[in-house]
Amino acid sequence: MIKLPPVIDTHAHLDELPDPEAAIKEARERGVLGIVAVGQDISSNQKTIEMARRHPGFVFPAIGYHPWRLNPDHDDETLAYIDTNLKHCVALGEVGLDYKAKTKKKIQKAIFEQLLAIAKRHYKPVIVHCRFVHETAYRMVKESGLEKAIFHWYSGSLDLIPLIAAEGYYMSATPALLYNPYHAKAIDAVPLSNLLLETDSPVQYQELVARPVHVQVTLQEVARVKGIPLEEIAAQTTQNAKACFGLNEL
Ligand SMILES: [Zn+2]
Repeated sequence: MIKLPPVIDTHAHLDELPDPEAAIKEARERGVLGIVAVGQDISSNQKTIEMARRHPGFVFPAIGYHPWRLNPDHDDETLAYIDTNLKHCVALGEVGLDYKAKTKKKIQKAIFEQLLAIAKRHYKPVIVHCRFVHETAYRMVKESGLEKAIFHWYSGSLDLIPLIAAEGYYMSATPALLYNPYHAKAIDAVPLSNLLLETDSPVQYQELVARPVHVQVTLQEVARVKGIPLEEIAAQTTQNAKACFGLNEL
């Protein structure tokens, strides 16, 4: 097995892995530098924070309210939970807009707006999920006045990439580069200074059921798609992740 340069998995749902502890150990042993673990609702956020506590300096928590998990009975409680606990986290996420989700667009936007305001108040980056609604999501983030944002698993239009990059926001690549030409085209167009690597574990990419160690697959695929040496991609994206999430100790 070739030894790959160290990289950070900037988006993993550790609480959804069948054996998170084994996956964390495996990533550490195989040279992954750190993992940003993202939450989706109160229970997932609690598990994420607990896991980060068990692995200080390696697992960094983000807490959020995923558009698939919105539930009017839990909105207030979830927003209050995030507001209270965000100071212990490196980012607010996963949040966003998904026009294939069951919640009405108007309600999604209202919740997203409140979440962006919380991130802004705490000076935290926001990790954005968007599907079929990239431009609106970008505009809402920009209008919220946030300085840092990550458009995760970016597969929006190519026209939007220079605008997102001009704000200093990031876009992240996943192992979907193995087979998805739209994601590959987008990632090829993202400037290296605005790119992050991730796995979105435990997403299944054809035969690959992702764990954080597979950020190395993302690294290899980004190098292939962009035609840039692995070492250069690893060094720049790691520097980007440290700057974005404030991981100065790594
Ligand atoms: Zn995700």
